[in-house]
Amino acid sequence: MFHGKCAMCERPGAEQIEHFCPKSIYPERTYLWSNLLLICGDCNHNKIDLDPFNPAAVDGGAALLDPTVDTPEEHIRYDSVTGLSVFVNRQEGVRHRGEKTVIAFHLDRQALSDARHRLFVEIILLLDLLSLPQEPLAERGASFLTELIAPRSPHLAVIRQLLLDPAHQPLITAVATQWPALSARFDELRAIPARSPAHQPR
Ligand SMILES: [Zn+2]
Repeated sequence: MFHGKCAMCERPGAEQIEHFCPKSIYPERTYLWSNLLLICGDCNHNKIDLDPFNPAAVDGGAALLDPTVDTPEEHIRYDSVTGLSVFVNRQEGVRHRGEKTVIAFHLDRQALSDARHRLFVEIILLLDLLSLPQEPLAERGASFLTELIAPRSPHLAVIRQLLLDPAHQPLITAVATQWPALSARFDELRAIPARSPAHQPR
């Protein structure tokens, strides 16, 4: 389901299991498949037994986002210049679920924001290159872009955000017209994946 990537930060090489509802608080969910997330050591270490349903767990406010139930981009987007999180429909004085999740898992740590920023730049450069007719470097650019948007690649949330951004549609359409294989993958990435029924607090 996660293609070997961390369910929270989208980096490859995740090798730990996160109990979304911690087993110390919800022991009956220890072996519940839907409660288990593949996660990296950094994100797991940062969260430590926070109760995702306890409003007091992180500075008050709503529950944490569950990546198997929630659609993250409805809550969190990324600034293309800084790579930092931007919270959708954030209201002053009200703790946002996306914000709470970013704080709980340290999802704006420097390595992640730098990687997201680099990805924004690389993708736009490659789309520009591939939109040009008879560009000699286009074949290499296409294989590089294919790698960046493969299921196992990190930070696909950035790619989805770019593909769904109305400002980039002319560029994306120009590339999709010339590169059918990329176009098919763009369509897959645009589609919102099916979500499981929501976890409920006991
Ligand atoms: Zn992680």
